[in-house]
Amino acid sequence: MKRLVVFLVLCTFVGKFSEVSLHAQDLTYYKQIVKELSSAKYQGRGYAKDGVNKAGKYLQKEFTKAGADEVTCQPFKLDINTYAGNVDFSVDGQKQTPGVDFVMREYSPGVHGTYKLYYVDTTNFDAEKMYSDLAKPENKDCFVVCDFWFSYTHNNDFKNLQIPGACTNAGMIQTWEPIIKFYKAYGERVVDKPIIWATSNFPKDAKTFTANIDNKFMKDFECFNVIAKVEGRKHDSCFVFTAHYDHLGNLGKKVYYAGANDNASGTAAIITLTSYYSKNRPEYDMYFVAFAGEEAGLRGSEWYVAHPNVPLEQIKFVFNLDMIGDNNPMQYVETNSDNGFALFEKINGEKHYFKGLNRGELAGNSDHYPFAEHKVPCILFENEEGDTFKYYHTVFDTYENAVFDTYEPIFKLVRDFVERY
Ligand SMILES: [Zn+2]
Repeated sequence: MKRLVVFLVLCTFVGKFSEVSLHAQDLTYYKQIVKELSSAKYQGRGYAKDGVNKAGKYLQKEFTKAGADEVTCQPFKLDINTYAGNVDFSVDGQKQTPGVDFVMREYSPGVHGTYKLYYVDTTNFDAEKMYSDLAKPENKDCFVVCDFWFSYTHNNDFKNLQIPGACTNAGMIQTWEPIIKFYKAYGERVVDKPIIWATSNFPKDAKTFTANIDNKFMKDFECFNVIAKVEGRKHDSCFVFTAHYDHLGNLGKKVYYAGANDNASGTAAIITLTSYYSKNRPEYDMYFVAFAGEEAGLRGSEWYVAHPNVPLEQIKFVFNLDMIGDNNPMQYVETNSDNGFALFEKINGEKHYFKGLNRGELAGNSDHYPFAEHKVPCILFENEEGDTFKYYHTVFDTYENAVFDTYEPIFKLVRDFVERY
């Protein structure tokens, strides 16, 4: 009896110890990959400096090191507007900082020259008066300054400012509460008139601005998804883990968007999962897909579901990890599978990995969505409202600002799910 107790205590101790040490080591490994992908070497994993493809090549090596049985690349092309040249912008002689004071709307052309400013009166707004003011010769070729949400909610009154020939303004400056965010989703075209996004700290009474902002439209830019495989004992079905590794690239020659949370955090997790399954042979084949082109409008995942490496019907479940470098104890998820969600809730209820799972409406804002459209059971994990989320799509989404609390509970949650699904 005594010996049995000692034996049990020993087992528990050894079990706990090996679990702890395994995960301590995993977190170091995990953080090292997040740090690498967020470094200056990859310039925000964008296009003009080819950072996305450099990151893709790094991932190929990293998947191989992690013990994948097979690593392949899936090339595809996209059109994208970029700003990796000059982005000089000063207002009444005061220099503005790219990424902090202003960004460019993703489909904006460049801006070169000195322009007058016309401020929209949003408290006593009168569209007719605005257009008659703008028709005056002294306002020809000005930039119209307006709060973004105001012009968005009054879209009908503002759309002529964007249509060539409909109004003589040269462009727009839209203001937005700081921290200012940069997007790429609609960057596969360039509109006629420039749009600069500035923070709401933009001067309220400036007369002119001077800009030397270059854009470069890259047609048929070639990038690739990276697909790693760990063979299971059965090959008729599989699980797929996905994360996008591209991000927003550059805003000028010096500024790049590191994208530590978005989405070096998810990409690093699918590599440590590859390592885990290569050491703990799974029942079914496991695929780990690092997508490019997500920020440009889910281009990599759309390409993948149109050209899957396994028939989509054979996929038991897709786990999409996007922005998990955070610390909200409530985990946000989107899923098209009620069964799957019930099992996740059951596991989480037993193991208390998170305080709870917060299920939102399925939306086309990450790479699980093209799978959902093809009726493949899938889930998105995206940690929202934690300490890192405020840096989403800003220059402050850096390795130093990332938090790593969410990694381990997600890792364990998906691992347990795979064992029980
Ligand atoms: Zn993003």
